Amino acid sequence: MSTRWLFADQLGPHFLDDPGQRVLLVESKAVFRRRVFHRQKAHLVLSALRHRAQDPGVELVRAETYTEGVRQPVTVCHPTSRAARGLVRRMPGVEMLPPRGFVTSPQDFVTWAHGRNRLRLEDFYRHARQRHGVLMDGGEPAGGRWNLDSDNREPPPRGARRLGAPQPPPIVEDEIDAGVRAELDRWQHDDGIVFVGNDGPRLFPVTRREALDRLRHFVDHRLPMFGPHEDAMLAGDPWMAHSMLSPAINLGLLDPMEVIEEAERAYRCGAAPLAGVEGFIRQILGWRDFVWHLYWYFEPRYRASNELRAGADLPKWFADLDADAVGARCLSDVLAGVRDRGWVHHIPRLMVLGNYAMQRGWRPGAVADWFHRCFVDGYEWVMTANVVGMSQYADGGRMSSKPYAAGGAYVHRMSDYCGGCRYDPKVRAGADACPYTAGYWSFLARHERDLSGNHRMAQPLRGLRRLSDLEALLEQERARGSHAP
Ligand code: FAD
Repeated sequence: MSTRWLFADQLGPHFLDDPGQRVLLVESKAVFRRRVFHRQKAHLVLSALRHRAQDPGVELVRAETYTEGVRQPVTVCHPTSRAARGLVRRMPGVEMLPPRGFVTSPQDFVTWAHGRNRLRLEDFYRHARQRHGVLMDGGEPAGGRWNLDSDNREPPPRGARRLGAPQPPPIVEDEIDAGVRAELDRWQHDDGIVFVGNDGPRLFPVTRREALDRLRHFVDHRLPMFGPHEDAMLAGDPWMAHSMLSPAINLGLLDPMEVIEEAERAYRCGAAPLAGVEGFIRQILGWRDFVWHLYWYFEPRYRASNELRAGADLPKWFADLDADAVGARCLSDVLAGVRDRGWVHHIPRLMVLGNYAMQRGWRPGAVADWFHRCFVDGYEWVMTANVVGMSQYADGGRMSSKPYAAGGAYVHRMSDYCGGCRYDPKVRAGADACPYTAGYWSFLARHERDLSGNHRMAQPLRGLRRLSDLEALLEQERARGSHAP
């Protein structure tokens, strides 16, 4: 059997043909010189590689580049970026196998997508559930409905400061983590390698064991609470009932299908309600596979799409995660979460960070780069559709039916941020004007023509036309410019 070269995001057993297969890992320092990482992401990747190197039959080569590190014939599973795929294709003696680490195959996606004039998650997800028999009772969806989203959109429980989901046991760092931390300090101080974000105790798994423990803890203790408040935010509870599994799944430590099977098992034995389980499986079998396939299916220049002609640079306070410079409580808290953990859940990403960027007309490619470097689970394949398509609507609706633009009323309804904020979500103009509310109307005013053909935007655009203080609001937004709100 061939030696299997594993990239750092292919670390689990499902990337091998046989548990005893010999493994080559390459730790390339050039990767860290070439692009900026969140300090905690760099830690996760190096720690995961070095822990994997402890397993029998695994050789870890430290090299400046991959080409220098791979000096024997190997097989490798299809990598997760175009750049890495190009490199693998150019390397002599390297045979590339089909991708692993996702549920659906590229062929399956292409067959599904072919001839459709719109690519929508809901359609793909139903197809994938049928194809893989997930949450199905015969030919019908379990419980009779495909989509239980309407049960999963509740605001946080009234008056609660925390959702109350049991916290997973903390990760215990070991001497490998200590070595990684010391080495990253040296790279930073002696070699001038730049990171973003703060270092901190390791929060996410780097071994298969840790990942399985987290999965089991989630399914047993947190999944039952996952559904209803999936979209809610609480300042004092960044994790809510989310699984926090994205870093482990994206490092390849968990096979998404095993995660889905565990979740379905919890539903089948009555340990977790259908709405939450369906909502969770939709994220993995649906969204995760969908954005993975879109990365390859859309042409390479998709990442540079800019249908709304957004041309502004990211302001320094945002790029530097300077949460203390921000007065708007939601944005300040979420930026601090990115700085201190490299992770916030989906709604802060979409409705606080992405929404703010889209309202201000920041360049989508720069926003995607920012997300990629600032998140512990960030990889090019997952950023492209999530940021360029879903959060910035820069593709003009190729993957979503309307822009995820919202004013302060949304943040107010779905979080406890507004109570302690110096701005008022109901106020559009003046000193108390919420930057999200003002930004929302200014975004609509700027793009009235672009969005006028979209029936889902008809009502907001009618509201825009009724505003009596639009000019004052727009003037104020112009004056705000790129200053921190
Ligand atoms: P849960 O809420 O517990 O969901 C379970 C799993 O579903 C996640 O672990 C993840 O594997 C998958 N998932 C859920 N939503 C998505 C999605 N939209 N795309 C892909 N997978 C999904 N996810 C990343 O893994 N890496 C990223 O870099 C990333 N960047 C994002 C940027 C933006 C602007 C947005 C809107 C979303 C992004 N997501 C990204 C998707 C999602 O926000 C995260 O996967 C999720 O918040 C991770 O936390 P969790 O593991 O607790 O997720």
